[in-house]
Amino acid sequence: MSAKDTFYVTTPIYYPNDIPHIGHGYTTVAADVLARWRRLIGDRVHFLTGTDEHGLNIVRAAGARGMTPQEHVDDINPRWHEMLVTLRIANDDFIRTTEQRHTSGVQAFMQRLHDNGDLYTATYSGPYCVRCEAYYTTEELVENELCPIHRRPVDRLEQENWFFRLSKYAPALLELFEQRPDFVQPDVRMNEVRAFVEGGLTDISASRSAFDWGVPVPWEPGHVFYVWFDALLNYVTAAGFGTDDAAFARRWPVDVHLIGKDIIRFHAVYWPAMLMAADIEVPRQVYAHGFLLVGGEKMSKSNATGIRPTELVEHFGVDCYRYYFLREISFGHDGSFSWESMEQRYTTDLANDLGNLVNRVLNMVSSYCDARVPDPTGEPGEAEAALGEDLDRAVVGLQSIDRLEFKKALEDLWVFVSGVNRYVEARAPWKLNKTGASDDLARCLYTAVDALRIIAVLISPVMPVAAERLWAKLGLPSALDEQRLPDAGRWGATPVGVTVQRGDLLFPKLEEQP
Ligand SMILES: [Zn+2]
Repeated sequence: MSAKDTFYVTTPIYYPNDIPHIGHGYTTVAADVLARWRRLIGDRVHFLTGTDEHGLNIVRAAGARGMTPQEHVDDINPRWHEMLVTLRIANDDFIRTTEQRHTSGVQAFMQRLHDNGDLYTATYSGPYCVRCEAYYTTEELVENELCPIHRRPVDRLEQENWFFRLSKYAPALLELFEQRPDFVQPDVRMNEVRAFVEGGLTDISASRSAFDWGVPVPWEPGHVFYVWFDALLNYVTAAGFGTDDAAFARRWPVDVHLIGKDIIRFHAVYWPAMLMAADIEVPRQVYAHGFLLVGGEKMSKSNATGIRPTELVEHFGVDCYRYYFLREISFGHDGSFSWESMEQRYTTDLANDLGNLVNRVLNMVSSYCDARVPDPTGEPGEAEAALGEDLDRAVVGLQSIDRLEFKKALEDLWVFVSGVNRYVEARAPWKLNKTGASDDLARCLYTAVDALRIIAVLISPVMPVAAERLWAKLGLPSALDEQRLPDAGRWGATPVGVTVQRGDLLFPKLEEQP
């Protein structure tokens, strides 16, 4: 019987030589929103990210700086932690593949493949891209033998290697895809992966001896494991494989690996085959999101890799950053970033729809009720019922996060935000105050504040800072991070008589662009 009791989500491990850009931020924020959402509905969650610190590029970059590879990766590792802090990522673990737990786990895993007869030695020769750390077939090269990803010349490498019998697993992989059509999502990626396997698999190199910056092959001195047989294994070694069996049993199989579509083959073909060879369950799902493209004139001199998350966070704030990419782009598809569309989202969705609503409601509670949430003495009517329907739609819509449909989840959530705006407009508490309809006024303002409390809870996976600020304005006695759905999404949990504070605007007017 499975001991799994934890929702486990991962990002790819990042290449430390890179400078964190909005592409890294995109995957990481999405994983964080999923993790926060699962915590909000009461799950135990394990959210893993990390860095891939082995390989020839690291050796070369270190050499160029006059450092050892370890000194080099130690020196540049903080920039990844800084990105996590900047984007308010609440990961539970951060694996560095240079850690001992990773080395131990990789060796234990690969020993199984060796013992099962799935590894053998042969001489390999072929086109090799140093940046990808991958061999290609001649057919895969583009434009006069360039790497299809990097568009730069490849090397030709020949070496005695350990090989993994990937070809042996083609039938089992096709059976997996047949039985679990959502193993890879979205569907277009599943079809791509299936076609790749149907086209026939060749065995792949699992070790090399040209350099020693990697996890040593225990039975073959002078060899280290080939990069994917090191990097992919982070998902199990960080979860406890080979070092903490009890922890591993609670987490594995992983619920979803979030990746970019450029590394789908490694995650959806190599990785499940390697797990099968090691007698370990395959992931529940591999989800490949699209590429971020850069549109809009202001950013046209730059490109996606040139935009750092900090540039955007400094101008728009972290909440808008997290909201924008998930609201603007369908996660499984390619999408364009532009400064203008981000400004538009900030102004329309955040400052106007949400920020003004908060300000307006709290202003009225301050003016009409001495800043104390009134007792809802009036009877709920049609307006309250309509608002209830909007809320139901938002709560159901948020479950789209489980299918990585962030855009839909946020659209449905904004149905409720708009609904509260309409409600306030229709009930017109400023008129009720004038005419002395105190029961109706109390009912209206209580409902509006209660709606703001629910909004704070519902936005918290996507906009954790704004959610905390809103929560604080409402003067609620309990902590936001203790709230759980569905209870916290029900009406009437705001205590009567608590004191609200308007404070600073939730989404102030943007500074002029420098
Ligand atoms: Zn390449």
